[in-house]
Amino acid sequence: MTLPLPHRSRVLILGGTADASALARTIAAEPNIDAVLSFAGRTDQPKPPPIPFRVGGFGGISGLADYLRAERIKRVVDATHPFAAQMSRHTVIACAEAGVPLLALERPAWQAVAGDRWVDVEDLDQAVSALGAAPRRVFLGIGRQNLELFASQPQHAYLVRLVDPPRGPLPLPNVEVVIARGPFDLAGDRALLRAHRTEIVVAKNAGGDAAVAKITAARELGLPVIMVKRPAVPDRHCVATVSEVMAWLGHDTAPENRGV
Ligand code: NAP
Repeated sequence: MTLPLPHRSRVLILGGTADASALARTIAAEPNIDAVLSFAGRTDQPKPPPIPFRVGGFGGISGLADYLRAERIKRVVDATHPFAAQMSRHTVIACAEAGVPLLALERPAWQAVAGDRWVDVEDLDQAVSALGAAPRRVFLGIGRQNLELFASQPQHAYLVRLVDPPRGPLPLPNVEVVIARGPFDLAGDRALLRAHRTEIVVAKNAGGDAAVAKITAARELGLPVIMVKRPAVPDRHCVATVSEVMAWLGHDTAPENRGV
């Protein structure tokens, strides 16, 4: 149980996700919360949020703990991507060191439903092996990082989707690139998989709505999905919705509790 925030206390939101952006939009309407949204700086032009923001790493655990103290941060919300495990690990330790309460905003993982043909794997190395030896047309829906792992399987024809145009050649032979920023919709992802004649999809189990269209499209088209499980992060208090974060911050946004 955490006490409501004192007036205009500072909150650090660790972002880079649609959830963090949604939280920033809600907080922007709350004059009593002085929040700063932090981006790692992976995309060239993050969409400017409606609250103050900063860009770039903190310099490891000690850098983050120093930042929390120097900026007099009273609460941290880790709304990073479920696969940003290093940042989440650092945050657990730095918050403990600096004595700052931490909450994670983490969407539940996707669950396979009837019609899904998932091959569950523990990590991206296993995903590479699971593609097999026979050449296949692969939609690599994993973002820009770790593409080089798939270079060991050059017999496949890859399609990758990136937020920013690559600055140089990608570390993959036989690759087609689509530039697009989520959220993605079902019609668009169905058309993309058809146009590329995709035979198999590789995805990280991100959860949430912003990237689920490729999974639904694969189900509809009867395609197998190599689904990479989430990496482990240390135990922390987690919620799944923006309104639960707001309640933790002492600003209940649920309509039934606001009399609206
Ligand atoms: P990561 O491996 O967990 O973090 C690597 C380093 O990047 C961290 O140690 C930290 O540097 C810095 N960093 C990460 N998130 C940061 C943030 N929000 N603000 C400031 N610094 C941050 O993370 P990643 O997988 O490279 O992901 C980077 C960012 O992209 C995250 O913010 C995440 O939300 C977003 N993202 C990741 C994925 C994915 O699949 N991994 C997908 C979509 C979006 P220092 O040690 O110097 O502090």
